[in-house]
Amino acid sequence: MASTPEFQHTVGKTASLSGTALHTGEKVSLKLHPAPVGYGIKFKRKDLQDEPTIDARIDNLKTVERATTIGEGSVRVHTVEHVLAALSAMDVDNAIVEMDANEPPIGDGSAQLYVDLIKRAGVTVQEEPRKFFDVREPMHVESKTGALLVLLPDEKFRISCTQAGPNNRFTQFLSMEVTPTAFEREIAPARTFVYYEDVQPLMEKNLIKGGSLENAIVVRGEAVLSKEPLRFADEFVRHKILDIIGDLALAGRRIRGHVVAVKPGHATNAELVRALAREQTRRSAIAVPRAMPTGDGGLDTDEVMKILPHRYPFLMVDRIIGFEGENKITGVKSITINEPFFQGHFPGHPVMPGVMQVEAMAQVASILLFKLTKTSSRVGYFMSADQVKFRKPVFPGDTIFIHAELTRARGNRLAKTKCHCVVNDAVVSEGELMFTFLDK
Ligand SMILES: [Zn+2]
Repeated sequence: MASTPEFQHTVGKTASLSGTALHTGEKVSLKLHPAPVGYGIKFKRKDLQDEPTIDARIDNLKTVERATTIGEGSVRVHTVEHVLAALSAMDVDNAIVEMDANEPPIGDGSAQLYVDLIKRAGVTVQEEPRKFFDVREPMHVESKTGALLVLLPDEKFRISCTQAGPNNRFTQFLSMEVTPTAFEREIAPARTFVYYEDVQPLMEKNLIKGGSLENAIVVRGEAVLSKEPLRFADEFVRHKILDIIGDLALAGRRIRGHVVAVKPGHATNAELVRALAREQTRRSAIAVPRAMPTGDGGLDTDEVMKILPHRYPFLMVDRIIGFEGENKITGVKSITINEPFFQGHFPGHPVMPGVMQVEAMAQVASILLFKLTKTSSRVGYFMSADQVKFRKPVFPGDTIFIHAELTRARGNRLAKTKCHCVVNDAVVSEGELMFTFLDK
């Protein structure tokens, strides 16, 4: 469950390689340079005036036909997915990819040349923590062509992929955790494959001048044509995973989640990254604390502390934002990384303990009961919790809205409340809490 805090990485020194561009057939040289923290991956067009750079981010995605093209203004870089996959999987967060053409070298159609390049440059740790995208609930995208991508919560970055060719020929499945070692051994050597019927029109139009059996496997009917034999019996699905890693790198954050992919392609990969970016924007917007009303109807922190005996670090409500009639109350608690429980729950992967959410519900409910009894001579004791469910994890930066409703009161002795906690408009936990009243 726990992991050590992860820091950003860049390359240790500049390293270079040269080769042939797939689409133009021209010779291209590529240099990988170190970059500072927070820089991300940027492509630099050394061959153009002013040497413009293009941020490898989903906002800059231009086309996804056969390969992934990014651009800014009129400047383009084609077929970025293999170099991005290698950088991402080999743990490089920040780097400049400098090229003297509009496309990186295709190599043998795999990411092997980029793994070798990164190893020559070395990978060094930097002083800032990495940015992650934690998958909190299932997300999915699909296309009319039968491609489907599902992203599920997971503590690691995993990909489970099913690849199927025309008429379900060459159907292959592979599931793995993406680590530098696994990538280098299992994924990087897997080469691009194409179907003869797809490339024949392109060859006729002279659109893949650099294409040959030296940098792609060509599938024609049942036949597999390539310069050297297949490197893995399931080389095709491995290359699909390679492309997913490269396209998902456009998210600009490390993903903690499990990608389940069926017949994926660049278009659906990009759709998933867009969905992820939208979710990230939504989270960032909601994480900004909302303006809290004071005075009428609400209780500020001082007033809350006059009612509740709890104090830091055990005061689990910042403010009461309102009462609804006699029976309902809403409180709010901003969760920051400074909460003491994050130190141990869990190092490198902070998640708010569920029992602390139950405590927050109990404290908010107590304030409601205090208001009802209108006396400070009796005090409500938290007696039992029923039907407690923890539905979604709560992370640092979240604001919890704690709702409690009185559902049953027996004289001045017993009270039952129904409570739930909400983050980003979604219920994260709920429970029925029972209280008894005793004289002080
Ligand atoms: Zn590819």
